[in-house]
Amino acid sequence: MTSSYDFDYFVIGAGSGGVRSARIAAGYGARVAVAEDRHLGGTCVNVGCVPKNLLVYAAHFAQDFEDAAGFGWSIGPTRHDWARLIANKNTEIQRLNGVYRRLLEGAGVTIVEGRARLVDAHTVAVGEERYTADKILIATGGWPELPDIPGAREHGITSNEAFYLERLPGRILIVGGGYIGVEFAGIFHGLGSRVSLSYRGPLFLRGFDQDVREALAEEMARSGVELLFKTTVERVEKAGDCLLAHMSDGQVIETDAVMFATGRKPNTDGLGLEEAGVRVDAAGAVIIDEDYRTTAANIYAVGDVTNRIALTPVAIAEGHALADTLFGNNPRRIDYENIPTAVFSLPPIGTVGLTEEEARRTLAGVDIYTSSFRPMRHTLSGRQEKTLMKLVVDRADGRVVGCHMVGPDAPEIIQGLAVAMVAGATKADFDRTMGIHPTAAEEFVTMRTKAPDPVPQDEVTDEAAQ
Ligand code: NDP
Repeated sequence: MTSSYDFDYFVIGAGSGGVRSARIAAGYGARVAVAEDRHLGGTCVNVGCVPKNLLVYAAHFAQDFEDAAGFGWSIGPTRHDWARLIANKNTEIQRLNGVYRRLLEGAGVTIVEGRARLVDAHTVAVGEERYTADKILIATGGWPELPDIPGAREHGITSNEAFYLERLPGRILIVGGGYIGVEFAGIFHGLGSRVSLSYRGPLFLRGFDQDVREALAEEMARSGVELLFKTTVERVEKAGDCLLAHMSDGQVIETDAVMFATGRKPNTDGLGLEEAGVRVDAAGAVIIDEDYRTTAANIYAVGDVTNRIALTPVAIAEGHALADTLFGNNPRRIDYENIPTAVFSLPPIGTVGLTEEEARRTLAGVDIYTSSFRPMRHTLSGRQEKTLMKLVVDRADGRVVGCHMVGPDAPEIIQGLAVAMVAGATKADFDRTMGIHPTAAEEFVTMRTKAPDPVPQDEVTDEAAQ
């Protein structure tokens, strides 16, 4: 690592993937710089996972206060102060920005503040300065995408702005049925907004297990979120103090805010990729091979900018593996099988492995175990909310190939089960695991009854089909 370049490794973007890769590379003795034009920590720390979960905690108190009565608590009138929540959240994020700065500086990484642009395959410009580097990492993440409809840009917000609103909107229409849409629906609803969530398809969270999607839709509707499926916004206009959202099914919704959660796009605009020989796909994502190498031999990319699996732990793992490979004499790739994920909706979803639908498509035989029950806490709280748990098992060898849950603590519970799945646990292993009583999680090791096999479509008689 004694190149004639200014740096051995120049990382563009100090988000989850970039920071991890920079620190690990520096730990191996590489001379590393990281450029960032916004705040250290990237999306996750500033306008993603961290502030989102703080707002989810805030929203959950609404239910907690209600539930407390059944346990004998008398709680007077409650009032939420949005401005205080946002201020406290901002303070915490500034603290984390500082933690990231200290982590990078402590590892000996040079922090370059400003927007980086590739000049050629070995040169990065930041403002007036130019830096040369042997290897370059593009870890610029993603950015919320607004649909191309009249009024979206002028009147709509995205998650970026939602984190910094001055006031809680009295009414909000959220557009999009992915992670961000359902998470923010729970946040705004819990904090007191009247929430409508519109999704263009018949049921939100496409790609998740059907039972999970249905269970969450039922719970959200029961809690008072207005779910508008098979419709989307075609135009937004301002009318006095409020907004009018013209929907594809003809209705016009009067609201105070319209939030678009219609996906994120890779952050590659103005990066100078062409000049450096880095190709992008039709969605603007940096094209990489299995070793994170772009079409330029010395330039790499990890995380959301590659538009593959847009999850923080994946970007971190990729950045780490790349640094090990390039500077640690330890070439390795990460395992993309069985990546657990959670949606921090109210109630939350935790999931790992195949959905029932995927398993039925790809495996010869599948056994399904489901359990739907009222958690013990709600026997006294009176809340009607149900928890859903589901195991998908490969009939050929008994391996558990999917675990899904909707209910309190689902993300925490599924994280543990993901270890079992990565280790190849079978249903028999689950069965011989002792439960922890009384918990909801024990249900995962006590499910005994297989769901009946679905009747194949060609065996459905005309009568039954009616
Ligand atoms: P998603 O891709 O998850 O969801 C986008 C939603 O918007 C989908 O329901 C999609 O519908 C819909 N949509 C897309 N384009 C349009 C359009 N033009 N008009 C109307 N609806 C549209 O994106 P998100 O923004 O929610 O999140 C981005 C990614 O960030 C996630 O996929 C996830 O990887 C990550 N993330 C992870 C979180 C976590 O781990 N908890 C939290 C938040 C984000 P359709 O399904 O029909 O395409």
